Amino acid sequence: MKQTVAFKKNERNIFFHILTRCNLKCRHCYITPRQHGKEPIPSDTVIRWLRTLFDANKETNVIFLGGEPTLHPELDLCIKEARKIGYRSITVDTNGYLFNDILNKVTPNDVDYFSFSLDGATKTVNDKIRGKGCYKKCTEGIKKAVSKGFRTSLIFTVSKLNIHELENMPLLLKKLRIDRFFIQVIGIRGPSAKKRNTLQLTREEWTGLVPKVAQEAASLGIRVTYPKVFLEKNEPFECAGLVADNFFIFPNGRVYQCPLCEDFAIHSHRFKKDALTPLYGIRERELFQLSIPEGCVMNKILQPGNLRYDEHGAPEYKIACCLLKETVLAHSP
Ligand code: SF4
Ligand code: SF4
Repeated sequence: MKQTVAFKKNERNIFFHILTRCNLKCRHCYITPRQHGKEPIPSDTVIRWLRTLFDANKETNVIFLGGEPTLHPELDLCIKEARKIGYRSITVDTNGYLFNDILNKVTPNDVDYFSFSLDGATKTVNDKIRGKGCYKKCTEGIKKAVSKGFRTSLIFTVSKLNIHELENMPLLLKKLRIDRFFIQVIGIRGPSAKKRNTLQLTREEWTGLVPKVAQEAASLGIRVTYPKVFLEKNEPFECAGLVADNFFIFPNGRVYQCPLCEDFAIHSHRFKKDALTPLYGIRERELFQLSIPEGCVMNKILQPGNLRYDEHGAPEYKIACCLLKETVLAHSP
């Protein structure tokens, strides 16, 4: 069964970029060390910020990200402390290289999911996007995590470069014993954004294939989540920046509420002496207030290639908030 997951009022999600360093150079990488800091956050600071960000009145979840978060030598301490603080779910997003012997330093009780990124069903396509040797390393990492009893997710970022392999993913996921599948749409942001603006998918490509592949994966017992992306004119549009509780944290202390704003110094909060401090002036929250017929205002600014207009100049559809997701629950065929 497919359902649109509405923004939840009683949930807080922390996307914690504990460093920006990475061993890879993926073609669609959106991380900008110049904007977000080059040094890892020391683990004692991560832990203090985790305490600040925890909301005992809400289900608070944390996703540790980078760069490659397993390059942080004390990721294990941060994970264990998050559990002690009371975070409801703890996820580590990784490119699969699993540095610093992380799988031997934490247990499946400490981490809810290791979430692996793979952008092709084959070595040829994946490695063209993520770099030579990545497919092997990532699939080996998944197998090792599964053999140790960790639950795993896989994130596949779809673009014109790999859409033809999406249909082959469900069987690969089954073979790798993946629990959850996230299909992500390519975002045109980060240092190499301009080079990628021909990779965006059309509405027909996305809606014609992604829901079908999601159903196939779900019928193999895998829970699937993907962004809604395209809204009909009559479907309600909501900006998560106004109605949800998400924080995207970076090593230099910047805190955003919208991932599409991360290339610009318009973050709405900053960590100052371990306090989450709101900032004022022209900030992302001013953009959240704008109402335009195309839906998401940041999408129109950054990646308008996915919009289309009729002969009167009116948009044919709206673009949803990038944080609005569809979920297909695992079921039997
Ligand atoms: S693994 Fe992630 S952080 Fe590293 S280069 Fe690829 S997209 Fe960027
Ligand atoms: S992606 Fe668009 S709709 Fe979503 S939080 Fe950002 S500005 Fe708002």
